[in-house]
Amino acid sequence: METLAPIHPNTIEFAEKYGPIINGEIVEPINGYIDAVNPATGKVLSKIGRCGKEEVNQAVQAASTALPAWSNTSIEERSRLLNKIADVLEENQERLKMMECLDTGRPLHEFDPDYKLSIYQFRYFASAILTYYEGASHPVQNGYLLTKKEPLGVCGQIIPWNVPMIMTAFKLAPALAAGNTIVLKPAEDACLSVMEFTKLVADILPKGVVNVVPGYGVEAGQALIDHPGIDKLAFTGSVNVGRLVGKTAGEKIIPVTLELGGKSPHIVFPDVDIDRAVENAVFGFTTFNGQSCILGTRILIHDDIYETFVEKLIERAKQVKIGPPTDRSTRLGSIISEKQAKRILHYFEIAKKEGAKILYGGNRVTVQGHEHGYFIEPTIIEAEPDMRIAQEEIFGPAATVTRWNDVNEVIKIANDVEYGLAAGIMTNNLENALQTANKLEAGSVWINSYFNFQSGAPFGGYKNSGVGREYSKEALDAYSQSKSIVAAYQLPPAGFFK
Ligand code: NAP
Ligand code: MG
Repeated sequence: METLAPIHPNTIEFAEKYGPIINGEIVEPINGYIDAVNPATGKVLSKIGRCGKEEVNQAVQAASTALPAWSNTSIEERSRLLNKIADVLEENQERLKMMECLDTGRPLHEFDPDYKLSIYQFRYFASAILTYYEGASHPVQNGYLLTKKEPLGVCGQIIPWNVPMIMTAFKLAPALAAGNTIVLKPAEDACLSVMEFTKLVADILPKGVVNVVPGYGVEAGQALIDHPGIDKLAFTGSVNVGRLVGKTAGEKIIPVTLELGGKSPHIVFPDVDIDRAVENAVFGFTTFNGQSCILGTRILIHDDIYETFVEKLIERAKQVKIGPPTDRSTRLGSIISEKQAKRILHYFEIAKKEGAKILYGGNRVTVQGHEHGYFIEPTIIEAEPDMRIAQEEIFGPAATVTRWNDVNEVIKIANDVEYGLAAGIMTNNLENALQTANKLEAGSVWINSYFNFQSGAPFGGYKNSGVGREYSKEALDAYSQSKSIVAAYQLPPAGFFK
């Protein structure tokens, strides 16, 4: 593939404002707009619509009107359109990556894998849908059993700010492939790339198939989950809001997919190459600025190598380059908002109070020219497994380190949290690796390579990390319902019911 020319941040032109996209048109929201801010500089980049009940109502109506035709579109045509969306994302990726970098404060270089993964999502479901309906229909005595999958209908989808394009792709691709129509609520803190991209998507798809209602969670999000016209809810975000979404779906008796938080263990066996393991561990808790549900934030190190490992971990953490997000050599950018940065720093205070030891980091730092930004050092905290700092999601570039001796003990520590999204294991011993992986309560386990996302691998959480799986064929099940039709060749003989 040809490499696209890099884009300079100063050449990026955001629209003056981003209203909701309803029935293929950009609409004026009745309650006005919210500023979209670059967290690294404090600069207002643009404005996003502040949607509420009225816009959500119109969007659900548009999605509902578009549903019959879209759900009857042939799978070949849906596949072709999903590939076209992938093409458009590919063609526009350099511009969108820079927009997302400015909007989120995350380092620019991280968007290469983000966008690769997002483009693959559309191509994956463009292909997967072509074989999805291959049949279980068969003749039965005196007739035929037909089984078929149908779309669920109008899907309400709510996503967070940390990886906006990945989240958009995870939600749109399987739902569209399975023949559903959509109302998407992106996050208020970062959605400019999503608004730009979905404008392009709306031009590809029939009117009303994808509608987008930006705004506050308590307004646009709440109106969406409460709307009686929604047939399926899909949510990625915090456990508290996830619980509310799940409860609402329960009351309405509609299906729900929840991708929630994480506090994933990263287990280090004593046989590893320490330098390589340290590198993998640092990547595992600092990538995405530490703002991801999947990170390996509890590093569990075998006693035999604990001292050496921790010493090298600190040295490696010191080298992580904190800097302007748009600089390609930066590895840690700005936290998304002052609120999140304060929350992270508050966790470090909690850690100290409960007797944990901050071995490195723990501070906000200033980056020249970006004095407004919320840059936080990679932070390593020695903690007991039951301390809050080792149990609760921090959502910042911080990890706890804890020692272990016995493999059964480390499995118990690894599982002893409310979450179960992901886990990492580092060892050269295949038996240790696979036996441990089998016993971990986690939806994704990565052996010797943290965050090794592969197309077709089901992604989702055990326990409070959520309900359902995305990223794989299972997502098509989550956006479909089955119908069985039993056809008899003729009516039963008269008198059969005596
Ligand atoms: P959040 O508050 O739960 O927000 C997520 C989304 O829900 C946002 O679009 C938000 O809108 C919206 N929302 C908030 N209140 C709502 C309500 N009452 N009704 C409907 N929607 C509502 O999460 P966050 O703090 O922004 O994001 C961080 C959390 O997301 C972390 O806990 C992290 O673990 C989780 N996360 C999980 C995954 C995963 O795949 N498992 C991925 C990324 C993040 P606004 O923010 O615009 O107000
Ligand atoms: Mg922003």
